[in-house]
Amino acid sequence: MHTIDWKIECRNLAILLLITGLIGSAVGFLVWFLLFASLSYIAWTLFQLQRIQIWLSQQTDADPPESKGLWGDVLDGIYRLQRQGKEELNRLQATVDYLQDSFASLDDGAVMIDKRGNIEWSNVAAEYLLGLRYPDDKNQQLVNLIRDPEFIRYFENDDYSESLLIDSPHNKHYQLQISISYFGRGSRLLFARDVTENNRLQQMRKDFVANVSHELRTPLTVIKGYLETLSDKAGTQGNPQTIDTAANDISWRRAIDQMLTQSNRMENLIRDLMMLSKLESVPENNKDEPIDLEPMLETIKEEVVTAFKDRRVIKLECDYSLRLIGHADELRSAFTNLVMNAAKYSQDGGIITIRWFGDAQHCYLEVEDNGEGIDDIHLPRLTERFYRVDKSRSIETGGTGLGLAIVKHILLRHQAELKMSSVLGEGSTFSCEFPRMRLLAETHRA
Ligand code: ADP
Repeated sequence: MHTIDWKIECRNLAILLLITGLIGSAVGFLVWFLLFASLSYIAWTLFQLQRIQIWLSQQTDADPPESKGLWGDVLDGIYRLQRQGKEELNRLQATVDYLQDSFASLDDGAVMIDKRGNIEWSNVAAEYLLGLRYPDDKNQQLVNLIRDPEFIRYFENDDYSESLLIDSPHNKHYQLQISISYFGRGSRLLFARDVTENNRLQQMRKDFVANVSHELRTPLTVIKGYLETLSDKAGTQGNPQTIDTAANDISWRRAIDQMLTQSNRMENLIRDLMMLSKLESVPENNKDEPIDLEPMLETIKEEVVTAFKDRRVIKLECDYSLRLIGHADELRSAFTNLVMNAAKYSQDGGIITIRWFGDAQHCYLEVEDNGEGIDDIHLPRLTERFYRVDKSRSIETGGTGLGLAIVKHILLRHQAELKMSSVLGEGSTFSCEFPRMRLLAETHRA
């Protein structure tokens, strides 16, 4: 279509020049006539350009000026592009409005921050959760308005892989979970979620478990005390002062033994539940100190060997020049759990090796056994509370199903990880992987 317009335009110009040329040569003024025709064509062209320029500069939605031929086509083209541009802009604006409306209606506080750290936009929830007012606070530095040092450190650290828990800077009754992500060219989107109720429920659950465990301990101690007395009496047959008909009855003796076993299990369960509650309530690093691993591991070795009546062999392969920093009681509990497990899930004569060593990044406390091993499918779930591969086997060995959960919790408090590997029927290795920063700087003892 455009080529046709161009052709028509060229043809019209050629006809104009031809006619004026003919008339000009007829009257003897060929050059003047051609000059006049060319100037007229240029003037008309300039006139059309001026109309377009006036129309474009009006910046209204007015229709383009009427024009025919090539100029009409040019005007139509410009008009079409202009309309497309406007429609695109409207669509984009509608999307932006839609997104802002949906963010605005969120219960979570949402704040858009530009690459210089200035607030671009925030929603209503950000006002009562963070104290930010939009549009009053637009273009203000976020860290000038939220002055919590923990928040400033988090915001400026640039590592947002984990969220941050803080009290609301606006209303101390709110606890907020802050998460930030990057978008566009260095802009950031901050979400502040009110987790007050969630935290309250969590705390209630923790308190409940701690209180129940604590309350159960006293009656259980009394019951166990009486059962032990009965058991002792049952065991001293023939002594006229201690003979008790009920306790000496064979079926009663079996019942008493079972009651004692079960009360021991309950005692272990309560002990482990209380340990978990304590770990959840006591802040980390409150008693960190350099630990003397040698006596600690020797004691654990003695305890386990005695508990298993010398039917397990425990070897120590340790580099004691590496001094671990941590909470001694917690770590003793974690290591004991691992060594106990290794003994529990091994046969008589089983060999358990405890290793303590380091490499460039980590130091490791490893417990290896040649016991029954664990099928791969169970490994990822072993640290879940009450998860056991074989429940009856665990109960039989006095297990509670909480041991590895406790180990994991203790290691987390030391920025360490529990790694496990096992081959069914051949044995298992449980490794506590500590970061090297957990070592005392002077690695060699004087
Ligand atoms: P439990 O009190 O039952 O031992 P744990 O949390 O300590 O609970 O361990 C969870 C489960 O992991 C155990 O029930 C057992 O099946 C398995 N397990 C742990 N340590 C070992 C090990 N060294 N060898 C084989 N299985 C193990």
